[in-house]
Amino acid sequence: MRWWHGLAATSLLLAGAAQAQTTPDAGAAGTFAFVDVDVLPMDRDVRLSSQTVVVRDGRIAAIGPRDDIDVPDDATRIDGAGRVLMPGLAEFHGHVPGGDDPVYVQDTLDLYLANGVTLVRNMSGDVSHPELRARIEHGEVNGPTMVVASPWLRSRDADEAVREVRAHHAAGFDLVKIGSIPADAYPRMAETAHAVGIPFAGHIPEGVPLDVALDAKQASIDHFDRYVEFLVPPGTETGDRDAGWFGSGWVQWADRGRIDEAVARTRAAGTWNVPTLTLVEHMASPETPEAMLQWPEMRYMPASERERWRRAKHEYAARDTFQPDAAQALVTLRRELLKALHDGGAPIVLGSDAPQFFNVPGFSIHREMAMMQAAGLTPYEVLVTGTRNAAQALGTPDAFGTVEVGRRADLVLLAGDPREDLSHAQAPLGVMARGHWWPRDALAARLAEIAERHAE
Ligand SMILES: [Zn+2]
Repeated sequence: MRWWHGLAATSLLLAGAAQAQTTPDAGAAGTFAFVDVDVLPMDRDVRLSSQTVVVRDGRIAAIGPRDDIDVPDDATRIDGAGRVLMPGLAEFHGHVPGGDDPVYVQDTLDLYLANGVTLVRNMSGDVSHPELRARIEHGEVNGPTMVVASPWLRSRDADEAVREVRAHHAAGFDLVKIGSIPADAYPRMAETAHAVGIPFAGHIPEGVPLDVALDAKQASIDHFDRYVEFLVPPGTETGDRDAGWFGSGWVQWADRGRIDEAVARTRAAGTWNVPTLTLVEHMASPETPEAMLQWPEMRYMPASERERWRRAKHEYAARDTFQPDAAQALVTLRRELLKALHDGGAPIVLGSDAPQFFNVPGFSIHREMAMMQAAGLTPYEVLVTGTRNAAQALGTPDAFGTVEVGRRADLVLLAGDPREDLSHAQAPLGVMARGHWWPRDALAARLAEIAERHAE
């Protein structure tokens, strides 16, 4: 799993012994100093110029104006002149494969890292994930910090839901992924989760109204699940028409006059939303799947996955509840909903749902951010959702997500200021996760290796 080791050994041979003493292995931990770098601390909308940031033992140890900070003798110096340092990004609805294919697991983790994603809340757990989480934490496997949800909850009744929630908690999962449980099992599932102290998040099961999930203090609602249904006024004659995929079948009855109430209830509940705009917009877009598969990042996905996406888009396009007008109306409504929730103080955290539907891990987070900006958030507001907000959503606001002394050293070094243009957050010059540092050349070499594996 430690591909960096071989890679670093090769580059050291080429670089010669003199450089070997000053260039750490890619992925190495230790003491680092980003010297003379502009910092986006992300606790406020400001760019601090010409700073030095010292990282030691995986944490930010010092930060201040370049001339005020001593660079420790043992530090690896990283030139920051003219560059921007900010917290790494979170993918709050990601998927990491299970443990049966270690190469695919490692590829996925590295795709996230190469895109500046330093934390993944994995939203469909596998039994192997708690151990993978620990191995990443201990530096035995390269990857973003993982927050691991349980396997998708599929309980048939309330008793089974109670047993499964307890079992997932005992197995060390960080949260329960809500999937498809009977509506009448939801209250006892929620009660049990609160009693044992494990959050539950993800979908809202069919038949459970939005306000019931909010009252039950679901930790996050992903994909804006059940919002469209809430916006359809009670008593609306929907006949036997299915609500469809995220409400696409009912979108023509959505009453925008009810958005304020949805926002107020969400804010009062303290429930986070993970919009995953890309998930729906990729399926709703008029672009053909064949054209989408020409996107540059598609080279990093296995052919079998690309083919699955291609077929899925054709299949969705054939659904009577997902015809072009309804699909586009759904996209428009979801963007309005994001803007209203955000501006109304209902908290938002960044997530795209990779690798579902044309979402290549890591790359898709940048597409998601562009869509959030198109929905009306400023670039800075978008960046907040992927940094500081992720730490808050996990209930650990002081752990990471800002550039401050004591925070976990999850950082990205960029060529430009993403508050001016979000595209500057793409293809970072270097990525640091938990104090381990990967410079761009190492990330690029790794990407090339993954693309090579999937070349036809
Ligand atoms: Zn998902």
